[in-house]
Amino acid sequence: MQLVISIAQIRAGGGVHKAIKSLMANRLLSRESQAYEGYRLTYTGYDVLALKALTARGVVTAIGRKIGVGKESDIYTAQTPEGEEVVLKLHRLGRTSFRAVKKKRDYLKSKSAGNWLYLSRLAAMREYAFMRALYAQRFPVPTPKDQNRHVVVMSLVPGYPMYQVRAGEMGHPEQVLDACMNIAIDLARHGLVHCDLNEFNLIVDEHENVTLIDFPQMISTSHHNAEEMFDRDIHGIAKFFRMKQRFPVDYDQLPKLPAIVSEVEALRLSAGLAQAASGAGTAADGGDEAAEDGDLAAPMFLGAGDDAEDEEIALDSQGLGLGFDDAAAGADADGQERAAVPVRLDLEVKASGFTDEDEDLLRQAIAQAREGAEGEDGDDGAEDGDDGEVE
Ligand code: ADP
Ligand code: MG
Repeated sequence: MQLVISIAQIRAGGGVHKAIKSLMANRLLSRESQAYEGYRLTYTGYDVLALKALTARGVVTAIGRKIGVGKESDIYTAQTPEGEEVVLKLHRLGRTSFRAVKKKRDYLKSKSAGNWLYLSRLAAMREYAFMRALYAQRFPVPTPKDQNRHVVVMSLVPGYPMYQVRAGEMGHPEQVLDACMNIAIDLARHGLVHCDLNEFNLIVDEHENVTLIDFPQMISTSHHNAEEMFDRDIHGIAKFFRMKQRFPVDYDQLPKLPAIVSEVEALRLSAGLAQAASGAGTAADGGDEAAEDGDLAAPMFLGAGDDAEDEEIALDSQGLGLGFDDAAAGADADGQERAAVPVRLDLEVKASGFTDEDEDLLRQAIAQAREGAEGEDGDDGAEDGDDGEVE
């Protein structure tokens, strides 16, 4: 109690007992007696803090209905002061598979054991960073509005998640399939693999436009699991169209990550060469270097040299104010059209301050949450007594 009083900078006798009692009664705090003696913020308490911040900033004024319950989130509509209906995604890691994740306590030690609020905030921050980067590159994603703590605010996407579309209801399944595959390919061209690309995270509207959602678990094409995850995403989509839409999918034609990566690498090389040849290249230009040590067959952009990549990031981060990045679809100085070299969004998002440790931590927690939701895998239940820890 002394600690509470000193951290909160409340005068002794300033009603701390009463305040804590009322926070407990409203389930914003709960009592902790195992890891330490004291009080812990609940998800409800965290919700209140985030919503208070978002209303104070004038981002939202009212909450609407719940439109989705994911494995790791609750989705609500909300109103902006301008009357626009937007979406609030409240990340809730640790809710469904508390015991399963908890077994991996090692991963969580560095940020205090089982700190789901911290992980949920990390998930929201990553999701928002990816959404902004993708939106700036004109990917079909929701418009990012704001983020606070574990909450992301984004535009409401019209339409239905694709899993709700029944066989025969799609006017042009081949076009929708193409759109889905093209999203995966274009992500890969920008250095990203979604890792949960499926009919639950693709929204189809009445004109059969496809929008991609749900980004906290995305990885770089340089990640050691990238190819496996890409194949899983692609095959998941293929299976949905074959089984659920009864649409014949040509499995020999499915995109492959190494081919996409080396195609982009070749593009990057030739763009660097063209720039050097036209004299536009400067000391900061990694183009000639890339030409020397470049290897067209080298996977994962290894040939490009760091300078070239840094330059791309610098270029793009100027446009991070949510403006579209026209440099990506640009023309030469003399106005000639050239094939656009995709910006490495994986590097861009990483540069915005996520550590490898945090990324791993989060991916572990998300993966565990998903596994956990599908069955807790022989958990011995020894830690059952703690289940109440997550609200
Ligand atoms: P989770 O990470 O828990 O899977 P999602 O981001 O996939 O959460 O959202 C869960 C569901 O909520 C989606 O399947 C979709 O139906 C709905 N949803 C999420 N974001 C939006 C949005 N921006 N517009 C419309 N519906 C959305
Ligand atoms: Mg989802």
